[in-house]
Amino acid sequence: MRRPIIAGNWKMNMIRAEGMNLIRALKQGLDDSVAPEVVVAPPFTLIDGLRPLVTGTGITLAAQNVHWADSGAYTGEISARMLKDLECRYVIVGHSERRHLFGDSDEDINKRVRAVLDAGMAPILCIGETLEQREKDLTWELLTQQVIRGLRDVSEPLVTKVVLAYEPVWAIGTGRTASEAQVAEAHGFLRNLLRESFPAHVANAVRILYGGSVKPTNIDALMAQDNVDGALVGGASLKADSFLRIIAYQAPRR
Ligand code: PEP
Repeated sequence: MRRPIIAGNWKMNMIRAEGMNLIRALKQGLDDSVAPEVVVAPPFTLIDGLRPLVTGTGITLAAQNVHWADSGAYTGEISARMLKDLECRYVIVGHSERRHLFGDSDEDINKRVRAVLDAGMAPILCIGETLEQREKDLTWELLTQQVIRGLRDVSEPLVTKVVLAYEPVWAIGTGRTASEAQVAEAHGFLRNLLRESFPAHVANAVRILYGGSVKPTNIDALMAQDNVDGALVGGASLKADSFLRIIAYQAPRR
């Protein structure tokens, strides 16, 4: 049984008062019986301040990036040890904005994945093709490469902790969601890839989230697809009402 995750990626948004207001509104609207694990990934600057607000609630904290070294002369970077100290449970790794705007390679991402796992947290490893790659029929090759390289040298017990987020780059922040058939196909492909690469109990434990213009109006259909174990939500996680509606998705519970 894979517990679904609904994760909000706040990106570079929110100052302290705004973040606190949003968390308070989420807490107020969250039903105790809510099925998914609710994760929010605020900017680094807000994590410590939000920590007391989420302690003991159904909300857990994630960071949006991490450096792979434990400590040292890496001006401007944040280590997994620091994030663990702030009680983060997850770290988003390899988001398409990090890959495309900041040059993260699969090798860098693999080092981040391993640092997160070594520190006792779980990486949300983002993968996904650009429109050009999809049009050139490179999607499956690209996803294979991103998964295999991203998980290189990760031991089987630790692979079970990894969360994959399939985020087609052309669907992120564009309002253009992948169709149900495209999502089902990609998630089925990823599950098979995991099964070819790891023993079944490991492959079946990995949660695969969908991300890319997830909204209250499309979450139910997305969550109804096989192998969709939750969502990574950008824009719609910045408003309590839309994020709460996404968290309360209506779909067959598996
Ligand atoms: C994201 O940032 O991972 C994302 C999917 O953004 P949006 O929901 O705004 O497309």
